[in-house]
Amino acid sequence: MRIATFVHPFLRKPRVGLVYGDKVLDVNLAYQALLLEDGEEDAEVLAEATLPSDMIRLLRRGKKALDALNQVNANLSKFLNDGIEAPEGQRIVFNLGDVRLKAPIPRPGKIIHTAGNFREHAKEAEKAGWEFPIPQWISFLKSPTAVIGPYDPIIYPKFTKELDYELEVAIVIGKRGKYISREKAYDYIAGYMVFNDITARDIQREEMKNGLLNFGKNLDTFAPMGPWITLKDEIPDPHNLKMELRVNGEVRQEGSTSRLSVTIPEIIEHYSWVTLEPGDVITTGTISGVAAFRENPERYYLKPDDIVESEVEKIGIMRNPVVKEG
Ligand code: MG
Repeated sequence: MRIATFVHPFLRKPRVGLVYGDKVLDVNLAYQALLLEDGEEDAEVLAEATLPSDMIRLLRRGKKALDALNQVNANLSKFLNDGIEAPEGQRIVFNLGDVRLKAPIPRPGKIIHTAGNFREHAKEAEKAGWEFPIPQWISFLKSPTAVIGPYDPIIYPKFTKELDYELEVAIVIGKRGKYISREKAYDYIAGYMVFNDITARDIQREEMKNGLLNFGKNLDTFAPMGPWITLKDEIPDPHNLKMELRVNGEVRQEGSTSRLSVTIPEIIEHYSWVTLEPGDVITTGTISGVAAFRENPERYYLKPDDIVESEVEKIGIMRNPVVKEG
């Protein structure tokens, strides 16, 4: 299953949707409709408690929410064929093209970011003469306020001349935990998203002279994620996914999660030194091909009006335009 956060065109607020083909179903209303069909009088209250319309609250409900989602999914064809009556005055099914997708988790509690995991990225950095070593297990926090949706504009900030992209996979935490062993790691994962770790390379370089990493990675719009969460049931092996990033159709990054040097369960084990909570996001680090480590990087840095497509197999494609800061 794929679950998204979409702006409901009539209610005009974000809701959780089940994405199927080119349709999206409001899962909370759909579950309410199923309860009503069963003659449940408190359907609205029960649906809100079991399958809430907010993504983090839904993830917190854990197995109860997943069971309810499965019920909605099992009745998918009935919903798509108007075979189930919607709660009064409501609509459950929309065309994906008629709604706006927000980041699946519009404001994660925290984003823990990995660097140096794909060793190819470290190798090309060394080759390009990047001043700083990129060992395994570099991690830093990315600001939740940098999050944008899968089709939202990346704002080209006035403080940079070197705006770069980094295609990554994001892991979505679905269960609260601390000191999680790698053997139990998948129990704590809800699913996966595409992630782009947008970076102002010149600001990063200045900051790293002091051993810090902040604004270069955290300016507004520097964390596009989406287009939805592909739940882990659809991705039994997350270590075999093709990854590709294109700028204006030109392939810039091409790789696979099979080349991760540290596996996803190991990442969960390592990062759960802090309490991980439902809706937290952990990224894998990027593959080779970023602009900074290419010959003639100026040609490859992002420019206003560029279109950045970030794709990961079995998850989806984000398409973010680059827009000059007004
Ligand atoms: Mg990165």
